[in-house]
Amino acid sequence: STQIQLAARPTGWPTDADFSTAVVELPGLTAGQVRVVNDFISVDPYMRGRMNDVKSYIPPFVLGETMGGGAVGHVVESTVESVPVGSLVVHQYGWRDVVQEDAAGFRVVPEIPNVPASAYLGVLGMTALTAYVGLLEVAKFKEGDTVFVSGAAGAVGSMVGQIARLKGAARVIGSAGTDEKVALLTEKYGFDAAFNYKTGDIAAQLAEAAPEGIDVYFDNVGGDHLSAALGAFKDGGRAALCGAISQMNRTDGPTGVQNMVNIVTRGLTLTGFTVGNYLQHFPAFTEQMGTWFAAGDIVFDETVVDGIENAVDAFLGMLRGENTGKMVVKTSVA
Ligand code: NDP
Repeated sequence: STQIQLAARPTGWPTDADFSTAVVELPGLTAGQVRVVNDFISVDPYMRGRMNDVKSYIPPFVLGETMGGGAVGHVVESTVESVPVGSLVVHQYGWRDVVQEDAAGFRVVPEIPNVPASAYLGVLGMTALTAYVGLLEVAKFKEGDTVFVSGAAGAVGSMVGQIARLKGAARVIGSAGTDEKVALLTEKYGFDAAFNYKTGDIAAQLAEAAPEGIDVYFDNVGGDHLSAALGAFKDGGRAALCGAISQMNRTDGPTGVQNMVNIVTRGLTLTGFTVGNYLQHFPAFTEQMGTWFAAGDIVFDETVVDGIENAVDAFLGMLRGENTGKMVVKTSVA
């Protein structure tokens, strides 16, 4: 099994030197175990947080151990009847091409014709669930709301925009970091307006896109985006604080947030959340997403990087914005 491990704790942007590759000889299965060959592994922003040795909602990665995280693969050997050879399984054993563990660590999922297994890491998995609960439960979206979402062409953001539209938003506005992504937002994902946050002032572009203000802000980015949203809220506006990727690799401390006084004067509600505390909504999400998906109401993109040896590049590329939709690594065993 080829595995990517955490070799050092980065300050600021991680580099190749913070990771190492180990090739591990797997022993025969013991009772209760299964062996899985991964098809895809997930690279996610939260993994950058876990590289730091700080107390958080999830423990830090351990130096010298394999990077954990979502992955999907097929069972190739099994000692357990309920997880037979050939099953498609989702698990959290992360950055390795082959994994052998107790069967309890794997969730068997159905194969869906014409849908890649990687969908279980994105549109049918954690990132879309984050969009669903963040918008509907945390921000308490209601029909007729005007919604602004940052990081809108990413895995979470592209789902937030589409769910808001399907649930009857009055207007959905998104921001992203390239003109190609901005075009995709209105042309493919059904956003009503979109802008490039790198080529113009965020607050000015938001004001133009939502002249009457916004009811809901889904924050994937933090920093200037959050300041702009606070400036644009109508009275009683709600924000779901999902992530602050703009702050993640800064070494000079977080940027200050402007327009905080509007939280008072406009009676705003800002609620932070982590998806792990909303797993009770997974069945409802799966049913709703399955219906939309089958009807062709939800579209999605993935950026697929080939080869476990390129997992670090995929991870860093995602943090830099090289992905559209979910970033995944396609693994293969020679
Ligand atoms: P994405 O697929 O959105 O990938 C990350 C994107 O962030 C990049 O493509 C890039 O797009 C954008 N980005 C990078 N740097 C900046 C910056 N300085 N300013 C603005 N945008 C930037 O990742 P996910 O969809 O997986 O995650 C999106 C957010 O949601 C993250 O903040 C993540 O931490 C959070 N999250 C939170 C969860 C929770 O439970 N609370 C669960 C899952 C994710 P661009 O080209 O547009 O810059």
